[in-house]
Amino acid sequence: MKAIVKTKPEPGAELLDAPEPQIAPDQVLVKVRATSICGTDVHIYKWDPWAQGRIGQKRLPQILGHEVAGEVVQVGSHVTRIKVGDYVSAETHIYDPGDLTALLGQRHLGEHMKILGVDCDGAFAEYIAVPERVCWINDPALPPEFATIQEPLGNAVYAVLGEDNDVAGKSMVIFGDGPAGILSAGVARVCGATQIFLVGRSPITLEVGRKMGADHTLSLELSPEERISYILDHTHGNGADIILEMAGNPQAVSEGFKVLRKGGRFTAFGVLSSSEMTLDYNNYLVFKGAQVYGINGRKIFDTWYRASNFLSSGRLDLSPVITHLLPLEDFEKGFQAVLARPRNCLKVVLFPDQNELEKAKKRRTSDVR
Ligand code: ZN
Repeated sequence: MKAIVKTKPEPGAELLDAPEPQIAPDQVLVKVRATSICGTDVHIYKWDPWAQGRIGQKRLPQILGHEVAGEVVQVGSHVTRIKVGDYVSAETHIYDPGDLTALLGQRHLGEHMKILGVDCDGAFAEYIAVPERVCWINDPALPPEFATIQEPLGNAVYAVLGEDNDVAGKSMVIFGDGPAGILSAGVARVCGATQIFLVGRSPITLEVGRKMGADHTLSLELSPEERISYILDHTHGNGADIILEMAGNPQAVSEGFKVLRKGGRFTAFGVLSSSEMTLDYNNYLVFKGAQVYGINGRKIFDTWYRASNFLSSGRLDLSPVITHLLPLEDFEKGFQAVLARPRNCLKVVLFPDQNELEKAKKRRTSDVR
């Protein structure tokens, strides 16, 4: 089968003819209809220090990718819930049911959790083997280019709703104009946030953020003081109820706490390139009475349920976020688009089958590359 494979411990990946995966008794074989490029794939593609440490040389060759939508064509002998013919997507966090967190219902945080496309072969191929327990059955009417985006959409749903689902009628500042930030603007809008501020660098993606639901876009060309006073001016001097840090930037973390109102919620999603940073602990956390939520993954399957309902109902349209529809063979073009700065690319969807690609292009009403 066609597959995009990391073969060598260096930047890049190759299109190869790889053997079809053999499924274990608890796995299903999925014929990939659509798959999409995520930041994690970019780390592996670039072979940066994270990828070197996490995957290492020994496990290569490995197929990239984890965001997927496809049809189940074979099920293992222990599989009971999923049937041949089901149209599925996959939760990336392959949880270990025996972990304490899994037993407590926080399956996405397990000590022995494995990640699809990172700890095992991924979805940038014609077929992928997926454990039954992480399969989510899609609405057959949901186009595969949307179904594959449910994984990052789930991050946005979890980040926006937090642990208390208390968003309606509240103001929110989102730092970061990558896919997570832009998807979050859309989710915040449908969840009833009444003022949505989006902070980012690229005029193109900020404009998509407006289309998705941001009321105010704040460029990084402004000074931090200008952005802070803009947000305070528009929140009666109180600051915003909810902050989403999706830029992975220490400056955004500090700025986020500065514009958080007392008693508000700070949501930490972005990963900093260096873990250590200084923070005014007393004023930002203690005296502010801040609630701080770390978001790692999606609630399994609460956020899948909500994300898929947002899409099926038509309440949320992801079209503006899908900027590229490409054949799997053109993965290099996809990675170059994701890496290009200033950013003009959000989600790149790859199709192993040319017919699926043609159908997806026909469904588009707006321009796509
Ligand atoms: Zn992803």
